[in-house]
Amino acid sequence: MSKGNLFVISAPSGTGKTTILKKILTAVPGVAFSVSHTTRAPRTGEQDGIDYFFISREEFIAMRDDNAFLEWAEVHGNMYGTSRRAVEDKLAAGIDIFLDIDVQGAKQLKKLTDLEAIFLFIAPPSWEELEKRLSGRGTDSSETVRLRLNNARTEMTETELYDYLVINDVIDEAVDMIRSVIMAERCRKRRSLHGAPISPALLSPSA
Ligand code: ADP
Ligand code: 5GP
Repeated sequence: MSKGNLFVISAPSGTGKTTILKKILTAVPGVAFSVSHTTRAPRTGEQDGIDYFFISREEFIAMRDDNAFLEWAEVHGNMYGTSRRAVEDKLAAGIDIFLDIDVQGAKQLKKLTDLEAIFLFIAPPSWEELEKRLSGRGTDSSETVRLRLNNARTEMTETELYDYLVINDVIDEAVDMIRSVIMAERCRKRRSLHGAPISPALLSPSA
């Protein structure tokens, strides 16, 4: 079976990445989201095993030392990591996977050349709008909002690393653009609209 595509997606905190990915998961068949491990405390409404696997710092370090993470990073004062096993299993099953990770994690994956990932960066339409969304989400203290805005300044200088840049101004337009990237990559890998491999018999000279 042909392997699934690995989409690596980064955005400054508050841009709308989680909102967009939730819409992509319902709008596009054959797509899964990689659930990361984190030492961050759950926000109101977040569920263990769905939004993240919420673990202690000690558990995180033990997993990291056991080589359980494909990549990991300390972001805004907490540790985050992508399970190597979960990603490899889904890709082998032909499923397209989205990793929602920060720029440091994306840089680590860029170095794994046999991974052939597709890198997308989502940016807010303006700094004013980013601040509005971060504060408006109402899940973080003003100190956390300030820290995340500061980090955004650096992250926004790194878009050159990414294959695609999508501005999240009107949400449905951003979802459309990302859906188009998924479809283009499926066509490139000789896969159908739903992500299934095109029959080799169709493409064979003896058919
Ligand atoms: P991230 O995952 O990038 O940190 P979220 O998906 O949590 O960001 O979105 C941050 C806030 O911005 C949420 O309150 C969300 O509803 C809002 N939001 C997301 N996209 C848009 C958009 N295009 N226009 C206006 N508000 C948005
Ligand atoms: P949040 O705390 O807002 O959910 O996420 C904060 C940041 O951590 C975001 O930039 C998000 O992309 C990043 N992040 C989430 N999971 C991972 C992961 O597994 N690895 C890395 N490197 N970053 C992650």
